[in-house]
Amino acid sequence: MEFALADHHRMVQKMVRDFGASEVAPHIRELDRAQMFDRTILQKMGALGLLGLCVPERYGGAGSDYISLGLACEELEYVDTSLRVILSVHLGLNSLSLLAWGTEDQRRRFLVPQARGEKVAAYGLTEPAAGSDAVGIQATAVRDGRNYVLHGEKTWMSLADVADHFLIFAWTDPAKQKQRDHAGLSAFVLTRDMKGLTTSTLHGKLGIRAGNTGSITMDEVRVSEDHRLGQEGEGFRIAMFALDQGRYTVASGATGLIRACLDASVRYAHERRAFGVPIGEHQLIKEMIARMGRDYEVSRLLYLRAGWMKNQGQRNTRETSLAKWYATVASEQAAGDAVEVHGAYGYSDEYPVERFYRNAKGAVIYEGTREIHTLLQADYALGYREDKPTRVTLPTWPFD
Ligand SMILES: Cc1cc2nc3c(=O)[nH]c(=O)nc-3n(C[C@H](O)[C@H](O)[C@H](O)COP(=O)(O)OP(=O)(O)OC[C@H]3O[C@@H](n4cnc5c(N)ncnc54)[C@H](O)[C@@H]3O)c2cc1C
Repeated sequence: MEFALADHHRMVQKMVRDFGASEVAPHIRELDRAQMFDRTILQKMGALGLLGLCVPERYGGAGSDYISLGLACEELEYVDTSLRVILSVHLGLNSLSLLAWGTEDQRRRFLVPQARGEKVAAYGLTEPAAGSDAVGIQATAVRDGRNYVLHGEKTWMSLADVADHFLIFAWTDPAKQKQRDHAGLSAFVLTRDMKGLTTSTLHGKLGIRAGNTGSITMDEVRVSEDHRLGQEGEGFRIAMFALDQGRYTVASGATGLIRACLDASVRYAHERRAFGVPIGEHQLIKEMIARMGRDYEVSRLLYLRAGWMKNQGQRNTRETSLAKWYATVASEQAAGDAVEVHGAYGYSDEYPVERFYRNAKGAVIYEGTREIHTLLQADYALGYREDKPTRVTLPTWPFD
């Protein structure tokens, strides 16, 4: 067993930490206040190779391992959740699905420009009437010769109004839809230039205000069958496969958010005095800080284990779900406590902890709510659920 990071991990960690500190941290409060997505961040992340971080070099990526992806997410969310969300959807949910499930032609056409940062990618499963209940979606893809015609709406989609490519899930078998049999779902890659495809931005979000979240409407979007990812009927499996990678990035990101809460709270606990001593000397402040320190370490170990399993090519749905569940719930607690440590100052945007608090809630909801992960973990423990080998797996690292 080896707990130390390798040199290549530390290089990624430092690169992303320096990027966040110099390029984003000085502006993030204003971007969050203005609810503005800064597109130049995408170019900068692309230039650093982050948008294709763990995509093999032959597909335009940097060829790093999955642990590096987790470390990068931890560093990004240390600065702001909106940055980590970019990697979650562009790389975790979309590009790694193309890498694993795409044909060679699809990898060349869609994955290579995404890994190079020339095209931005999003993932659309959630609809206005269905989130946790993925089989409850209504979007349809009706076959017409060698084409499909797509109808429907996806919402709460990160990067919806920014992305060039969209990984979308829709019913291709109406009979199976009636029976709620997920074998009737298929996955498609859509591009922004397609006729009948429009996107919009959601406003009034609680957090992740420097990030773009929106909707996509498909009104008779016609695609040739070479835009279908995987086989007909494999959509649900692809959606769940994608979540194994997305949840990993959410877990590692939430770990970074806990560390950000810890660092801000320690700093303030030394500065602020009450009853003649720095507040850090009061036992109940110590309790909150101790909990942040504990939850940072636990969350970190959980996501690193999941990343290690991905490197080895081991199925990690259970471990990734546990990492996501634990870290996101702990990050919400840490952010609430960080506001408390800051007293009234924590309640204003003079300090970053109120932004951490608003941002933390989203991750408890997306990529499987707290309740869904609780049920998953209970079902594994009770033996009601078991991970079986899948037809398609993430390539092991080092890549060929
Ligand atoms: C900021 C943000 C970004 C997002 N980005 C994306 C994205 O890029 N792509 C995408 O596809 N989606 C995205 N989502 C959507 C997200 O994945 C869904 O919101 C999430 O899956 C929950 O679905 P829902 O909102 O429809 O809630 P619902 O499924 O309606 O759940 C409502 C409540 O009921 C509970 N519940 C539901 N079913 C059960 C059950 N069986 N047992 C117990 N409790 C249950 C839930 O836990 C929750 O508390 C995003 C959401 C947010 C907030």
